Amino acid sequence: MATVAPPLATPEQIAKYEPVIGLEVHVQLGTRTKIFCSCPNEFGAAPNTNVCPVCLGMPGALPVLNKEAVELAMQASLALHCEVRNTSIFARKNYFYPDLPKGYQISQYDRPVAEHGWVEIELADGTKKRIGVTRLHMEDDAGKNTHDGYRDSDSYSYVDLNRCGSPLAEIVSEPDMRSSEEAFQYLTELKLAMQFTGVSNCDMEKGNLRCDANVSVRLKGAEKFGTKAEIKNLNSFRFLRQAIDYEIARQVGVLESGGKVVQETRLYNPDIDETLSMRSKEEAHDYRYFPEPDLVPLQISDEWLARVKAGMTELPAERRKRFVEEYGLREYDAQVLTATRELAEYYEEAARVSGDPKLAANWVTGDLAGMLKAEGKEIEDSRVSAARLGELAGLIAKGELTGKLAKEILPKMWESGDAPRAIMEREGLKAMSDTGEIEKIIEQVIAGNPKQVEQYKGGKTSVIQFFVGQVMKATRGQANPATVTEVLKQKLG
Ligand code: ADP
Ligand code: ZN
Ligand code: MG
Repeated sequence: MATVAPPLATPEQIAKYEPVIGLEVHVQLGTRTKIFCSCPNEFGAAPNTNVCPVCLGMPGALPVLNKEAVELAMQASLALHCEVRNTSIFARKNYFYPDLPKGYQISQYDRPVAEHGWVEIELADGTKKRIGVTRLHMEDDAGKNTHDGYRDSDSYSYVDLNRCGSPLAEIVSEPDMRSSEEAFQYLTELKLAMQFTGVSNCDMEKGNLRCDANVSVRLKGAEKFGTKAEIKNLNSFRFLRQAIDYEIARQVGVLESGGKVVQETRLYNPDIDETLSMRSKEEAHDYRYFPEPDLVPLQISDEWLARVKAGMTELPAERRKRFVEEYGLREYDAQVLTATRELAEYYEEAARVSGDPKLAANWVTGDLAGMLKAEGKEIEDSRVSAARLGELAGLIAKGELTGKLAKEILPKMWESGDAPRAIMEREGLKAMSDTGEIEKIIEQVIAGNPKQVEQYKGGKTSVIQFFVGQVMKATRGQANPATVTEVLKQKLG
């Protein structure tokens, strides 16, 4: 007899429960070669071309651990505030699947590279929360089965083994998250940490960042955790949030209809926004872990760790803090400007060239961001380089340009790729520095608008904006509005 799934819980029912979430994240380490052989670790090559006897799992082929992969795993561990073990062990995780020619994955089990870390997230109310990182271990990736794209794909699946042996770090969190939003923030911060340190590009479309979510619910106030379900296939940030919210509603629905949540693995299907059961605990694999006999224990000395640590770039949180302290930026702007490593680097270069970091921040987050957005571009594709934007901000800072003129010049820089000064010269655009000339224009504007002068003298001081506008128009935006306002106030008495 087929069982009918209970209805999803209502918001009122969900409000009685507290979700508990732990994430398991796979990050592909951005090495040049694979973890146990010298095949290129690259995406997009013709199927089954980046392979050799080691990553194909030929009998007798021996793995050799890639030092670069270990150093990136060390950096990842340090970025997540983990303790790195002096000795860690590789283990075989045995299972059978067509994309795994060895018949086992080389992973780490009871002695991973690193443990006991944390990631700090910021909640909606501004408070900070630390999410525990249980462990980080290294492992090799499997190949990929392709189910479509070929003439006979309706009857065959193909296997591409190029990804076999790509180096991965698996990062397991404590069950510390209490909402899909917290899980979203955790994954965001983790991704940023990996990108800023250069451990991984975390390109989700290429599968370089993958995430499984463990979800359970318990009545608010209850001490014991509920039974969890593990959700696979969350390959975008949006899916992560949607899948967790769906799963919470499903589990509360089960409990509220008098049922029990069963421990199982579920697959998220974004097309219908539902999670579907894949296998229950009874069908779970027994991986028969045992120490990998072909690899010696990995020894990481304190000296090696210190050297790797010394060579690391700043973490996003550190960079944010420095932007506030060193450049005097607002927290919010510092947050925006550290959204990606590329953006942070662009900004710092622009700030350096401009000599006015705050002004540079305004131009990066304001007009430049607007132009990028309009063309659907990321900062790394900006047609105005950081140095050029810095020059523009510098010209404003020195009073050679007004903000208004700069707004006219920036799109021209975008189009032509020219330096701001070249455009200024070509178009005869520059701030008016001759105060005598500005005064003359102001006097003309005052003389031409007696009604407004009367209003101003009668106490309606807001008309000053009208005068400023007129003067700016008469000078084609070349006068400095602050100077204009000041002179106007004097002249109007
Ligand atoms: P398993 O033995 O099924 O692999 P683990 O204890 O190793 O489970 O935990 C795997 C992941 O599940 C971790 O990220 C952990 O934080 C999370 N987790 C464990 N128990 C729960 C729970 N009751 N609810 C939600 N997540 C949980
Ligand atoms: Zn190989
Ligand atoms: Mg486990």
